[in-house]
Formats: sequence, C-alpha cells, structure tokens
Amino acid sequence: MMIQSIRKFFNTFLLFELLKGMAVTGRYLFARKITVEYPEEKAPQSPRFRGLHALRRYPNGEERCIACKLCEAVCPALAITIESEQREDGTRRTTRYDIDLTKCIFCGFCEESCPVDSIVETRIYEYHGEKRGDLIYTKPMLLAIGDAYEEQIAQDRAADAKYR
Ligand code: SF4
Ligand code: SF4
Repeated sequence: MMIQSIRKFFNTFLLFELLKGMAVTGRYLFARKITVEYPEEKAPQSPRFRGLHALRRYPNGEERCIACKLCEAVCPALAITIESEQREDGTRRTTRYDIDLTKCIFCGFCEESCPVDSIVETRIYEYHGEKRGDLIYTKPMLLAIGDAYEEQIAQDRAADAKYR
C-alpha cells in the first residue's frame, strides 16, 4: 500500500501520465488518417447503397412501372401508397405513387420485388425536410430523381447484377 502511494506520488510529480498522453497524441499525429472531412470528402459507397428512392423510365421515355403493386405489398413499413388506372391503350399505370420516407426503413424490399426494375434506391443520402409532408415523395418527384440519376442507377444495377 505504501509502495503504491509513493509510486503514485512520483508519477504525478514527474507528470508521467501527461507525458504518456502526449506520446499517444504524437503517435496518432503522423499516423494515416481514417476520418473523412465531410462534406468536402465523402466515404466510398457500394453500388448496392440504399438511399433515396427513384422511379425509372425506359430509354424511350415510357415509365417502367406497371402498377403491379408488389412493392406496396412487400413494404414492411407500409410506406408506399399506390393508386392506378388503365390507360386508353389498355396498359395500366399509376396515378399516384407516394413513399413516406418518415416510415421507410430503407430495407430495399421494394426494389427487390419490382419485376421491371422501376423503383430503385439511389446513392443519394443528402436530403431533408423542413415541414410536415416534405418527406413524402410523390410520383413526379421520384420520376425526376430517376431522370436526373439514370446513368448512375443503370451502372449500379449492372454492377449489382454481377453479384447475383
Ligand atoms: S426500402 Fe423497404 S421500407 Fe422503404 S419503401 Fe422500400 S420496402 Fe418500404
Ligand atoms: S414500382 Fe415495380 S413493383 Fe412497384 S408497382 Fe411499379 S412495377 Fe410494381
């Protein structure tokens, strides 16, 4: 007990703990940095990243979604709401396609279930809402995201197919 007290006294008196702490700081000062300077730097993303949703179109501009409602049925969070009707040419299309992102858990089941690769999750994670309803993404909003990011989406889908 006595020896421990003396050792503690000398450690404190000679600032041993402080020097030990400085040594750790010095060691990490020159080590390879593993943090990123967000938002200037971004962490790498997988082609399977599950971010903001998008609805895709075919190259001729026709929307892919055929209103089968599989995504709505499979969604465990009940975040998707679809209404549909038959067009004059006999095809069925959605008249409403909403995703409530305050409910979504980004599980990816919707994109897995889609038979025509219409609903997908993009790499986008920088979005926010400031008032009630801002995070309910409607069909025009989802189609606009799909139009803006189609190139990246197509590349990611092709890369993802290699893993399957
Ligand atoms: S990612 Fe999952 S929770 Fe979100 S809309 Fe799709 S199925 Fe629903
Ligand atoms: S997005 Fe795909 S799964 Fe959902 S209704 Fe349209 S075609 Fe069906």
